[in-house]
Amino acid sequence: MLLTITTTHAPATDMGFLLEKHPDKVHEFELSSGRATVFYPEATPERCTVALLLEVDSIGLVRSGTARQSDSNMDQYVNDRPYVASSFLSVAIGTAFRSALAGKSRHRPELANMAIALEARIAVLPCRGGEKLLQDLFAPLGYTTQVIRLPLDTQFPEWGGSPYYSLSLRGHVRLQDLLRHLYVLIPVLDDRKHYWVGEDEVEKLLRQASDWLATHPIKESIARRYLKNRRSLARMALERLTVEDPDEDSGESALDDDTPQAARREVELEKRVSLQVRRLDKVAELVAAVGARSVVDLGCGEGQLLPRLLKLPTVDRIVGMDVSVRALERAADRLHLDRMPPRQRARIELLQGSLLYRDQRLEGFDLATVIEVIEHLDPPRLQALERVLFEAAHPTFVIVTTPNSEYNVNFQDLPAGAFRHADHRFEWTRQEFQAWCTRQAERFGYSVEYAPIGDEHAVTGPPTQLALFSRTAQ
Ligand code: SAH
Repeated sequence: MLLTITTTHAPATDMGFLLEKHPDKVHEFELSSGRATVFYPEATPERCTVALLLEVDSIGLVRSGTARQSDSNMDQYVNDRPYVASSFLSVAIGTAFRSALAGKSRHRPELANMAIALEARIAVLPCRGGEKLLQDLFAPLGYTTQVIRLPLDTQFPEWGGSPYYSLSLRGHVRLQDLLRHLYVLIPVLDDRKHYWVGEDEVEKLLRQASDWLATHPIKESIARRYLKNRRSLARMALERLTVEDPDEDSGESALDDDTPQAARREVELEKRVSLQVRRLDKVAELVAAVGARSVVDLGCGEGQLLPRLLKLPTVDRIVGMDVSVRALERAADRLHLDRMPPRQRARIELLQGSLLYRDQRLEGFDLATVIEVIEHLDPPRLQALERVLFEAAHPTFVIVTTPNSEYNVNFQDLPAGAFRHADHRFEWTRQEFQAWCTRQAERFGYSVEYAPIGDEHAVTGPPTQLALFSRTAQ
């Protein structure tokens, strides 16, 4: 598969500085999907073109287990992957053009921040949505598109067109923006998924699209397709793209008008520290405050809380538990468990188990965290969790967080009455949550305190609510 980018911005050979790749050389990169080669078919002061050629190794993909598990045997080997632009091309862009994608250029920093005349061509792009989808994706970003539908078979024109297109995008943009648009939108057109899409992909999407996707007219569809229809992830990404607190922007900007755009973006991004980050920071802060030495994170998911617990020197035993083996595999990867120094490794353990069944492995902890988990359980199952957690595991402290449904009206993209995640079985108001907490505290001998997480809205309260239970009876 082939991507070329051409500039006529004089001197055009400065493209070499922008990409940090010398135009006279051929540059090669080994990727898990195959080999990427960067070269310049033309490099004159008037016009310079860089080509990124990706040769996908279908057999290598099958051997390495990167091919999709559900592909039939034949499909794994015989498919269009080597020829068409897919998410593998994004990976290649991320590797071969890493510094340019981040807007960095050692020798031409001003040029990296300048909109210049650029044209990108993708030789073969699969697009079941046809020319209209290509227009809808790229035109709002300011590109003039030229789309040519490729025939199904050149020898039999009567068979009509294929779902493959050759695309040219022309615009006056910064190179980093063009690369970021391609990085996100090529996988949007790629119907197959070649990797497990997890929360890391949300991070990547936000990193590459935080400033342009929020105002894109079809941002929902882009987020959903990029995250391969994992609706809960798409919702999470959109939640984080829209400003977390609608009031947050009313404050005076700390930046004056001539602050460079990149710095401005960074500050803007930092202003929107994600709710998830705040939630986990708050939980870690409470774990430290009560002086817990052993902590079990129930429904740990991909293990985002665990690194924060590892950072607390007072905690010497950490267990992450989840019902999902896949989530635990992701957690082990994220934590680099296999490469962890032995003393660290001895502090942490991942367990597969269910919160709905009594489990001796969960007993004897100072503290249990149940972060954004209860709302995933059907009410009758919640009753099972209550006994497993408060009666059988019976830790000294319990921290529970859950969305505050009153806050939902502040999310512009959330239809009235809808839940924040497709998998939520309920979302509670502050009163409902506190009524549940008081009942558990009375039944099982705990006292309970509440804390808000995220910026509190005067009427609806905070986006997330937290309860800290402390055991009063033995
Ligand atoms: N606590 C994590 C993940 C929240 S998502 C975080 O804040 O990032 C909810 C998690 O609960 C998922 O990982 C899901 O697999 C897990 N879960 C759902 N039902 C469960 C059950 N019965 N037992 C254990 N974990 C469960």
